[in-house]
Amino acid sequence: MGLLEGKVAIITGAGNGLGEAYAKLFAAEGASVVVNDLGGPRDGAGDGSISAAQKVVDAIKAAGGKAVANGDDVSTIQGGENILKTALDNFGAANILVCNAGILRDKTFANTSEEDWDKVIKVHLKGTYCCALPVWKWMKDNGGGSMVLTSSTSGLYGNFGQTNYGAAKAGIYGMVRVMSIEGRKYNIRVMGLAPGAFTRMTSDLPGRKDREPDPMSLPENIAPGVLYMVSDLAAEQSGKILGVSSRGVREIKMLQTGGFNPTKPYTAQDVANHASEVFFQNAEERTAQSA
Ligand code: NAD
Repeated sequence: MGLLEGKVAIITGAGNGLGEAYAKLFAAEGASVVVNDLGGPRDGAGDGSISAAQKVVDAIKAAGGKAVANGDDVSTIQGGENILKTALDNFGAANILVCNAGILRDKTFANTSEEDWDKVIKVHLKGTYCCALPVWKWMKDNGGGSMVLTSSTSGLYGNFGQTNYGAAKAGIYGMVRVMSIEGRKYNIRVMGLAPGAFTRMTSDLPGRKDREPDPMSLPENIAPGVLYMVSDLAAEQSGKILGVSSRGVREIKMLQTGGFNPTKPYTAQDVANHASEVFFQNAEERTAQSA
């Protein structure tokens, strides 16, 4: 029996890359899958087409699995509601949601136009809200469920040339933390994911371009970590963020030092004098580059 037998899973942006690999693995583990994808290029320009989602559905069905395609835009409330409706109309439930759809419009901060800012925030951050909200309401009324929201080390640690993307992904981290707290009483588990994979989103990064990808960075070798997250195996792990990449699976977390704790009014110079307590000393630092 598969890990997701009898479950209905919605995966956004599942016409390519990581989402496609999740869809195929979840279906092989017994889930009925809604494969959402707007289609279109990496920068989110143009109108898109359902053909990307349909191709993944055809492959899942050919392998004996259950899936249906949806071509809605995740970044509108109407789109989010239609995606849930596709799940309910075809499979009668929505037990798992992976918010994965995304685009890139990388520029240095000085060169980030308002249009590129708005579009990236809209697809990633608002898109996560638009898809999660209707599913959340359904889960709340139907005994709970599990959500994975896709963040990124670019937002959690920072990465050159990605202020719009990093801001959206750090916002999604905030959503995970707050929703996991609110979800406790409804049995809704919310986890955050910072993936690292060789896809069309990353294939032209310095160091990856013109090189054979590390096989462990292929989406099918990242998907098992995400299957773990949506399955009952991770039942106790709500609110946590996992990095899943060619290096394997690890928790990423916000930390604070013991700090400088004065009991009477203090000066800026006092803070400077206590810098060794305020700041992390010799912390083992892992950044987007090492993730
Ligand atoms: P990808 O480009 O292969 O897949 C993203 C998919 O989202 C595409 O198929 C695209 O058509 C779809 N999409 C875009 N806008 C949409 C919209 N408005 N509505 C519905 N679908 C839409 O990229 P990927 O590398 O598989 O990325 C998947 C997720 O993982 C993204 O959220 C990305 O930011 C995140 N991520 C990826 C990496 C990595 O190393 N690949 C690293 C960090 C985070």
